[in-house]
Amino acid sequence: MAEHESLEFGKADFVLLDNVSLEEFMANLKLRFEKGRIYTYIGEVVVSVNPYRAMNIYGRDTIEQYKGRELYERPPHLFAIADAAYKAMKRRNKDTCIVISGESGAGKTEASKYIMQYIAAITNPSQRAEVERVKNMLLKSNCVLEAFGNAKTNRNDNSSRFGKYMDINFDFKGDPIGGHINNYLLEKSRVIFQQEGERSFHSFYQLVKGAPDAQLRSLHIQRDPTAYTYIKVGGQIKVLYHVQIKRDYYGWQGSRDLWHLGKIKPFDGDVTLIENSKLVSILGDLLSTKDENVEKALLYRTVATGRDVIDKQHTHQEASYGRDALAKAIYERLFCWIVGRINDIIEVKNYDVRVHGKNTVIGVLDIYGFEIFQNNSFEQFCINYCNEKLQQLFIQLVLKQEQEEYQREGIPWKHIDYFNNQIIVDLVEQQHKGIFAVLDEACMNVGKVTDEMFLQALNGKLAKHAHYTSRKLSPTDKNLEFDRDFRIRHYAGDVAYSVVGFIDKNKDTLFQDFKRLLYNSSNPVLKAMWPEGKLSITEVTKRPLTAATLFKNSMISLVENLASKEPYYVRCIKPNEVKSPLLFEHERCKHQVEYLGLLENVRVRRAGFANRQIYPRFLQRYKMISEFTWPNHDLPSDKEAVKRLLQGCGFEHDVAYGKTKVFIRTPRTIFSLEEQRAEM
Ligand code: ATP
Ligand code: MG
Repeated sequence: MAEHESLEFGKADFVLLDNVSLEEFMANLKLRFEKGRIYTYIGEVVVSVNPYRAMNIYGRDTIEQYKGRELYERPPHLFAIADAAYKAMKRRNKDTCIVISGESGAGKTEASKYIMQYIAAITNPSQRAEVERVKNMLLKSNCVLEAFGNAKTNRNDNSSRFGKYMDINFDFKGDPIGGHINNYLLEKSRVIFQQEGERSFHSFYQLVKGAPDAQLRSLHIQRDPTAYTYIKVGGQIKVLYHVQIKRDYYGWQGSRDLWHLGKIKPFDGDVTLIENSKLVSILGDLLSTKDENVEKALLYRTVATGRDVIDKQHTHQEASYGRDALAKAIYERLFCWIVGRINDIIEVKNYDVRVHGKNTVIGVLDIYGFEIFQNNSFEQFCINYCNEKLQQLFIQLVLKQEQEEYQREGIPWKHIDYFNNQIIVDLVEQQHKGIFAVLDEACMNVGKVTDEMFLQALNGKLAKHAHYTSRKLSPTDKNLEFDRDFRIRHYAGDVAYSVVGFIDKNKDTLFQDFKRLLYNSSNPVLKAMWPEGKLSITEVTKRPLTAATLFKNSMISLVENLASKEPYYVRCIKPNEVKSPLLFEHERCKHQVEYLGLLENVRVRRAGFANRQIYPRFLQRYKMISEFTWPNHDLPSDKEAVKRLLQGCGFEHDVAYGKTKVFIRTPRTIFSLEEQRAEM
C-alpha cells in the first residue's frame, strides 16, 4: 500500500479508503484526477485515468525513482508495475504479463508504450550492442504497427484496430534479447469503409503526405487523398489536431520502405472496372502480373461443375464484392507480413539454455477495448467478446482464485459477491449453442443464407437467455430500434448489433481466382503472401475456417497463455468523451469503475493479504532474524516456527496462518522483514 503521499492528493491506494463504497471510490478517483494524480493502486493493480494532456512524469529522472524500488515506496505509477513485473521475472524466474484493459480511448496503447520504454531504460546497464539493437527494434516496431493498424475513429484519434500481444524475452542477466508479437483480428473492413467522421488506417494518409513526388508517381497515386473512394468514405481526410498531422508525417518516415503499400491505393473506386482499362493496367503493374489476368480475376470466377471447369462471369454485385474482398485481403496480409518481418528481426537468436540459463518472458497485452458505436457490426461483436474473455481471466485470477485459496487454507473469509461474466462468454463461444456456433452453422448451409436467417436462428436458440434479446423477442423495447438488431447484455453494458454483414464477414470469402492471381505474381514478396493460390479450383476442397472460429481460437489460446504467467493489471479509465483534460464525467467514470469490477477488487484486496508463502520457504528466507529459528528450530512444525518468528518481531496482528502458508496482510511487514534480513 502506498501511503507516503500527502492526503491532499487523495488516497494513493483504494484499499486505504475509510469505507469501501462507490461514492468514496469515485470521490477519490476524481480528486486525484483533478490534482493531476492519474494513477492509483488497488494493491498491485494500477488504475489509470487518461489525462488528455502531456504529463511530465515519464522522464529519465522519474524512471530512476522507480528503478528497483518496491511498489509501495513511491507514488503509484505504471513504472512501478513494470518494475514489479520485471523484478518477479528477474528474481524469481517467473514469466509475467501485463494486461492493459479499458475502453477505446482510455489510454491502453500509451500505457503499453510507457511500460516498454521503462523496461528498455532500466535494462542493459553494460550497454551490450546486441541488446541495444533488440531494444531499439522492440520500441520502433510500435511506430510501424501503429501506422498500419491504427486509425482515427469517433472515439479515439489513434485507435488500435488490431489486438497486440508482445512478448519480451530476457536472458539470465535480465536483459532483453528478443521478442515476439502476436496480432489479433485487424479490422480490415476499414480499408473499404469508414463510418462518418472516421478515417482509414493512418498509413494511407501518411503515404500521400510524406512520400516524395517521384515515389507517388511510380505508384500512380495522386497527392490528394480525396481522389480515392476507399479512404474518403468517412469524410475525414485531415485530422484536426496538429499532433495528428505531425504523426502522419513522422509515421510515414518510419515505414517508408514498405513499398508495396501503394499496391492498395489505386485499387479503389467506383469505376466500372471494364470501362477503366487504365486502372487495370496500373494494377497489373503494381501487382506484377499481366493486365489480362487482373481483369479476368475481377470479372470472372472459375467454377468446377462436375468434371468441367468453366469461367463464370460475375454480376456487377459479385464483381464489387470481389474487388472489396481483395482490397481487404491484400491489406490484411500485408499487415500480417509486416508483423512477420518484425518478428524475424526481433526473434531470439543464438540462445542456448544450457549456457545462458532460463530465458524468461514479460508479455504486454494491448488489445482493443470494449466499444459501442452508433452502428455495431461483426467487428464490434468480436472485440467485445474479447473483452469478455479478458474480464473472465481477471475474475479467475484476481477474484476467484484469491477467495478459493483462502477457503482451501482455512483462513476465515467473508465471501464477496461479484458479477461473473462466464455466462456471457458461454453465450458467445459455447459449442453448438453459442452465437459463433449458430453463425458458423448458418454459413455452412449451401444455398443463399441471409443475415436475417441467421438472426432467426439466434432468436430460436437463445430466446430464453438472460443476456440475449432482439426486437422480435422484445417488441416493446424502445432501445431496440431496428428489426435487424440483436442485443447482448455485456458485462460492460448493453450493445445492439446489426446482423447486416455477419454472414459475409464470417465467411470472409475471397475467390480462389484472386489467390491464384497473386500467387502467380512475379513479385516474390506478394507471391509468398498467397501460398494457397497454388491450388487450382478442383484441388480446393477444404472450406477455410470462418473468421469467428479463427478469432475464437486465437482468443482461447491468448487467455491460456496469459493464465500461465504471473499477471499484472493496468485498468484504464476514460474520463470524458470530448478528450478534455479537465472534465471528469461522473456517470461515465462510475460506469467504467462498475464494469471493471474495481470495487469488488478493492473489497477482495482489503479482506485479503498482500503476500503469502509456504512455511518452509518463509523459514528458509527469514530464519536468520530470529533466535528461535536460527540456524534450525526445534519446534514441532515449520508452521509453529514461523509463528514464533513473527511473534518475536511483533507482526502477530498482521498475519494469518493457513494450512500450508503464512498470509501477510500488508507489504510493509514484508519490507521490514527484508530489512532485518539485510542487516544480518
Ligand atoms: P483504443 O482501444 O481505441 O486503441 P486506447 O485505450 O489504446 O484506445 P490510447 O490510444 O492509448 O487509447 O489513448 C488515446 C489518447 O489519449 C492518446 O492518443 C493521447 O492523446 C491520450 N492519452 C492516453 N494516455 C495518455 C497519457 N498517459 N498521457 C497523455 N495523454 C494520454
Ligand atoms: Mg490502442
